[in-house]
Parts: sequence; structure tokens; C-alpha cells
Amino acid sequence: MDRQQEFVLRTVEERDIRFIRLWFTDVLGILKSVAVAPAELENAFSEGIGFDGSAIEGLTRVYEADMLAKPDPSTFQVLPWRGERHGTARMFCDIQTPDGEPSLADSRHVLKRALQRAGDKGFTFYTHPEVEFYLFENPADPDKPLVPVDTAGYFDHVARGTGHDFRRAAITMLESMGISVEFSHHEAGPGQNEIDLRYADALTTADNIMTFRTVVKEVALEQGLHASFMPKPLADHPGSGMHSHLSLFEGDRNAFHEPGAPFELSSTARKFIAGLLHHAAEITAITNQYVNSYKRMWGGAEAPSYICWGHNNRSALVRVPMYKPGKVNSSRVEYRGVDAATNPYLSYAVLLAAGLKGIEENYELPEGAEDDVWELTDGERRAMGIQPLPSSLDQAIAVMESSELVAETLGEHVFDFVLRNKREEWNAYRAQVTPFELKRFLPVL
Ligand code: GLN
Ligand code: MG
Ligand code: MG
Ligand code: MG
Repeated sequence: MDRQQEFVLRTVEERDIRFIRLWFTDVLGILKSVAVAPAELENAFSEGIGFDGSAIEGLTRVYEADMLAKPDPSTFQVLPWRGERHGTARMFCDIQTPDGEPSLADSRHVLKRALQRAGDKGFTFYTHPEVEFYLFENPADPDKPLVPVDTAGYFDHVARGTGHDFRRAAITMLESMGISVEFSHHEAGPGQNEIDLRYADALTTADNIMTFRTVVKEVALEQGLHASFMPKPLADHPGSGMHSHLSLFEGDRNAFHEPGAPFELSSTARKFIAGLLHHAAEITAITNQYVNSYKRMWGGAEAPSYICWGHNNRSALVRVPMYKPGKVNSSRVEYRGVDAATNPYLSYAVLLAAGLKGIEENYELPEGAEDDVWELTDGERRAMGIQPLPSSLDQAIAVMESSELVAETLGEHVFDFVLRNKREEWNAYRAQVTPFELKRFLPVL
């Protein structure tokens, strides 16, 4: 037993923890949980806890259903919403096959493998997500109209507003779980909020995003509200993105920073951006995985529709934020494509792989776009070499299907599962006859 495991056992005893929830994530990014009693912990650390993987999206095929959840002691946290006495704690798990090998279907493992590849080249990958979500009055009943908790807009201060109280409660809870929050504010849509997590290595950030979604949903429930990370819940208001700021470090040094270079961006950073742009279309079915995702990336509202980069350009897919003098560590690039409902492990794995490819292959960074790319005509965009992002899940799957980069990064099992699952979603979606069609066509056709 190592020191971290001993620490967990001691804390469980001292704090009178009665349940330990073992958390892991299915291939779609939905959190799964199995609770064990303290007496089971030692065994969980040494052997893992068995469960039936075939019941979990993407985890196994039926004939190899047995899986093990192995808790990662460095992720131990007491869950503050479960009360002070007889508390509950959680740990994230790695999924293993019965013979102790990492499961090829475990998205946390997919990210670890991608981070390892970066590590072999001397890089650590840091991410900082800006997570947007809506708060609704009513419970999640798709048959009732959605009622946002307020009618405020971007950065609005709502006096005694629900959103305000909500953000305070959520942030207090996140901080008590060791997750630092940098900024939080009201977003542009009614009832829409944004909370930005402090940058950390990508595995920690991805774990934090999973915790974040759970905390936000718990706090909302406590206040009789419903929180949603759906990419585009309201047709007439902006969708919910998860813009992610990305950087590579070599030891303590920010490899994206170069004094005196344009925007203080190193050639490593320029190649990384070139890689993101080059592979953007292929990775979109991962960063934007639902049919609903594509309704966000249409018609502006600061969500990207075109593959280009710009300095402080909020219509671009990749934005290079203003360099803050003296803040070497803050040199970074913002990828604005990702939405709030993504599987963060898979998204960060493919973003990293795309950027690294740019570095390995010395991709040339195309000219930046300083115009609002939504305002340009198709002809102007074509002349500038700016391609659109896939505009539907169908298109995104078609591009991903022939992507070596995505196949290699996800591994064959996850790659096949995502394609199969997403094709099924698209087919179910395209078979619908919508109220829009009835309203538009029935009177005239
Ligand atoms: N909601 C926008 C999106 O979906 C982002 C708005 C912003 O943070 N500037 O990407
Ligand atoms: Mg923001
Ligand atoms: Mg925002
Ligand atoms: Mg942003």
C-alpha cells in the first residue's frame, strides 16, 4: 500500500466516512458511480472493484463484460453536499480488464495515453476551461417549456438574483473540494452562467470538469432549479460552450511564450495552432458530439463556425488572448469549438494530439483572421482559405471516419464505438418529423 492509499484509509476513519463513491466516465462523458463501504477500500486499491461493463455506454462488448474499477487515491475528496456526519467521499477510477490491463474503452485512459505521448516529447499539457450552462426554473421535463431563472445578460449584476446566489453556493462547494475557480459571471443568455476553472494539467482539469457538472447539478437541485449543459437549449439564445485555453510547458517553462515574437507566441505555439486548425474538422465529432451541438455553432453568438485563428477575434475558432506583460505563464491559445456537453477526457486528448501533430510535422500557420468572419461573404472566406466547420453531426462523423489522427488517439475500440453510437443518434434524429416542418409545410403542401 502506498502513502496516498494510506492517507485515504486514515482520512476515511478519522472523518467517519461511511460511503466511498468510485467515479468513472463512460465514452459519452456521463459520470458513473459505485459506492463501496470503508471495509472494501483496501481491496479496491489492490484488486479493484468488479462491475458489469456491458451495461455502460461504450465500455465493453457483451462477451467481455467483467471490468474492474481501480480508484486513484490522489483524487480522494469528501463530498460536501452529503452532510458532515457519516459522510461520503469520492475517488476517480481507472478501468481495468480482469487481468489488470488498462481498459481500452476507458476515456480517462485515452487522455492519459495522449498525455504520455506529450510527456515523451518533454511536454506537460495544461488546460483552463470556461464552462457555460443554463439555469432553469423547472425540472427537466422535455414536455414543458423551459423557463430560465432570470432575464439578465452578459456580466449583468442581478440584485439578489438567483444566479448570483447560485454561483456563490456552487463556487463555495467547488473550492471546498479543492477546485479553484478563477472567474464567474452571468452569460449572454437569460439564466445562462459561466464559471471558469483555474488552469491545471489536463487530467486534473478533465476530472474537475466531471466534478464541476455534478456539483452544479447538485446545487441547482438544492435550490429547486435545473442546471443544463446542453449545447443549445434555447433556439433564440446563445448556446453553452466550453472554450478551453491550452498551453504546453517544458518543465517550469511555458513553451508557448517567446519574448519579442508577435503576440509573444513561440514557434511551438504557432505550430500547435496550425495543428488545431488542420485537424479541426476531424475532431469536431468529439468536441461537439450531439446533434444539438451543431445548433450552437451556427449564426454567431460568439460560437465558432469557421476554421481560422485570430488575435482577440471572438468569431475565430482559435483565439490568441492578449498577452499580459510579465505574465509568461499566461501565454496560451483558446480553442472555442468545444461545447459544455463534451467528454472532457476525449476532447483534451484529440486537441492535444492535433496540436502535437502540428509541432511534429512543422505545419505552417496560415494568416490570422482579424475580421469578423461571420460578416464575410462565402467568396471572401474562400479567398482567404477559411473552411467551415462541419455543420451537422452527420458531416462531422463523415470527416472523423477517415481520420488517422482521431483513430490513433482514441484507439480502435473507442473510435468504433463513437462512430457507431453517433451514427445511431443521427439516424434517430433524421427520422423525426419536427414541429417546424409541420408548421411550415402543412398549410401549403
Ligand atoms: N456562448 C458562447 C459559445 O457558445 C460563448 C460566449 C462567450 O463566452 N464569449 O461559445
Ligand atoms: Mg469567458
Ligand atoms: Mg463565455
Ligand atoms: Mg472564452
